Amino acid sequence: MDKKKLRNDIILISSLLIAAVVALVVVLLTRVKTNLVAKVAVQNNVVLVIDLSNKNDQDFEIDGLKGKLHVHTHSGAIAVTSSNCPHQDCVKMGYVNTSNRPIICAYNAVTIFIESVTAGSDVVI
Ligand SMILES: [Zn+2]
Repeated sequence: MDKKKLRNDIILISSLLIAAVVALVVVLLTRVKTNLVAKVAVQNNVVLVIDLSNKNDQDFEIDGLKGKLHVHTHSGAIAVTSSNCPHQDCVKMGYVNTSNRPIICAYNAVTIFIESVTAGSDVVI
């Protein structure tokens, strides 16, 4: 009888451990699946969504209100590398990788803002 009780205890403890491990794995997986994306908008219409979790360098050409902007991603950050605007404020912003520093080119009505999204949502690139 004692052996059976001990076996039941082992089964109970094992299942609790397995449940704890499963819960931990689920938490870790859902946390890992958060990606940073850069949303490029022209006149408040999102025209491009760039996945910043792709660490490869990427180049994009954006058709702004009055001209073209060249956008470059590098190591999870995004920058406007050239623009036809007179003040070049968007180019001077340099590389941005946080959501609290949007890149704005008022001349071309272009905004680039970074958001974190969960994987599986509608990331285009
Ligand atoms: Zn600009």
